Amino acid sequence: MSKWTIKKSKDLYNIAGWGNGYFDINEDGHLMVIPNPSNKNQSIDMMDILNELKHEGVTFPVVLRFHDILRAQVENINKVFKKHISESGFKGKFQGVFPIKVNQMREVVEEIVDAGKKFDYGLEAGSKAELMAVLAYNRSKSSLTILNGYKDEEYLKLALLGRRLERKIIIVIEKYSEIESIINVFKNTGVSPILGIRSKMTVKGRGKWESSSGERAKFGLSVSEIVKTIYLLKDNDMLDCLKLLHFHIGSQITDIQAIKEAISEGSRLFCEISKMGATLDYFDVGGGLGVDYDGTASMNNSSINYKLDEYVADVVYGLKQACDTENIAHPTIVTESGRALTAHHSCVVTNIIGEIDNNKHLLDDLSPRDNEHIILKNIRVLERDLSAKSNLQEAYNDALKYKSDAISAFKLGIFSLEDQAIVDSLYWKTLTKIKEIFEDSKKYTETYYELSELLASQYLCNMSVFQSAADSWAIDQILPVVPLQRLNEEPKSNCSLVDITCDSDGKIDKFVDHEGSVNKNLKLHKLDEKNYYIGLFLTGAYQDVMGDMHNLFGRLNEAHIYFHEDEADNFYIEETIHGSRAEDVLSTMQYNPQYMAFLIKDSIDQEISAKKIAPREGVKLIDFYENCLKEYTYLK
Ligand SMILES: *Cc1c(COP(=O)(O)O)cnc(C)c1O
Repeated sequence: MSKWTIKKSKDLYNIAGWGNGYFDINEDGHLMVIPNPSNKNQSIDMMDILNELKHEGVTFPVVLRFHDILRAQVENINKVFKKHISESGFKGKFQGVFPIKVNQMREVVEEIVDAGKKFDYGLEAGSKAELMAVLAYNRSKSSLTILNGYKDEEYLKLALLGRRLERKIIIVIEKYSEIESIINVFKNTGVSPILGIRSKMTVKGRGKWESSSGERAKFGLSVSEIVKTIYLLKDNDMLDCLKLLHFHIGSQITDIQAIKEAISEGSRLFCEISKMGATLDYFDVGGGLGVDYDGTASMNNSSINYKLDEYVADVVYGLKQACDTENIAHPTIVTESGRALTAHHSCVVTNIIGEIDNNKHLLDDLSPRDNEHIILKNIRVLERDLSAKSNLQEAYNDALKYKSDAISAFKLGIFSLEDQAIVDSLYWKTLTKIKEIFEDSKKYTETYYELSELLASQYLCNMSVFQSAADSWAIDQILPVVPLQRLNEEPKSNCSLVDITCDSDGKIDKFVDHEGSVNKNLKLHKLDEKNYYIGLFLTGAYQDVMGDMHNLFGRLNEAHIYFHEDEADNFYIEETIHGSRAEDVLSTMQYNPQYMAFLIKDSIDQEISAKKIAPREGVKLIDFYENCLKEYTYLK
């Protein structure tokens, strides 16, 4: 047997495939973060972070937010656009916006605004609450604020407020009927709106969100509506307000072909609208730039078959060609990338609190009983006589049959619970033995894989999938899972992950190996007495903010990490944020925690009066209950 190496762990967890250069493994076998991939010598050992958090009393699960990664992603998209714009001779510039629905956390928005300052990077909002956040946090007069989503009068008045502050607020018309309200709100104000049109596209997106485009799309104007809009604006002397064309064919576009098609359709629209007399300044390609979650560089739903560089080149060259053909001036290119900007910057770290293994607590004494039933005898002999020479398929079939016979016998009152337990124990022993013989002889048949799945254990993670990995539950999104330690050791346990909610859907059982096939199980290390930590990665887009409170597990503790060369272990924790306490989540469901404590106290008092509980003990019980209300909702 060849020795296990760090390289093998890198391959097994496909870190290079999904990590964008931000993650690697160090010589101690710990996962590390590389905040700036152009300087591989700078790294942070994730275990050092965990140690510091433990020292500070921060408990798991915890969200780690790497602000350097966020900044690097903002710089990166700007640099790549700049490169292609200059290489192609494109005369417009690039000015992206971040759609805050992807991650509305204030610290995330602030960091993106700050990192984007020198690029005039702006923000996008899709609802009134988001618009209020965006108005407060994007204070630059040169970066864009783009307003999508359905709008009522109040929404438009907020936009007007922004225009009063001389911000570049662009109202994107999603629905024909919005135009009248816009005209009304801005009439007689002395301020003119900057308008955009969102076009319904005929090109289909690819992947889970492909229904965002096409005739039945929820948003955007049809070609008839676009033309009518232009007439209406002309009639109201407002055509010069129309400055932007927007389209968005869906998130996580898996296939670069869809992007190419969208750019060619979009740039034709752009030219035609310009030819009708509008002086458009902005070409807004929306979001859709994907993330290679499974690291396979394929058209899997959780992957993408292109890189940022190719995406940008397609946008720039595609638009340039269309404009040049029609002699239309090159506009400013706008993207609304959210997922690609934020996915890498955060991860959820949690501890494994145990293992569910059918195979573990078998009966010790399986010796023959007097007058035992033939089913018992059969399965005992089957297990005893198994060897490399056995017909393994036949043995497996027999084991299944004996097990089901035993269940029938139990139901009919022939088997006692103890008889049933003996068959159960022998059954698991038999299966384990068969699997081992397959392995020893390197016969990886279909039955072998079936057995591997049956015998895989479930590692219990101190987290809620519904809170921290909503898309893994809702749409089978694959998120990379990697242990943070022992990566210089062979992981020998085949397992899937289950969370601590009381819901059988609360599990993660889709993992991708580096060859790209989806497995139900992941290789992790056998648990020992020490704490074992895993990271769930690429949770910075949507997952961070979309979670729900299933079982009243609330928001997670959070730590914001910055790289710093002069600090011990190369980092400092800028801030830690408390996750939800029991009283917080209970309050959201209309409970009053103080009143709850009162009710418990009242019940205890009654027991004290009845002399069933001693007064001292009663006081302790009340204190205990009150303290629990103030504690983190997850397991200690
Ligand atoms: C959701 C959304 C985005 C962000 O899409 P990503 O794929 O996350 O980049 C951008 N624009 C609009 C209009 C959206 O609805």
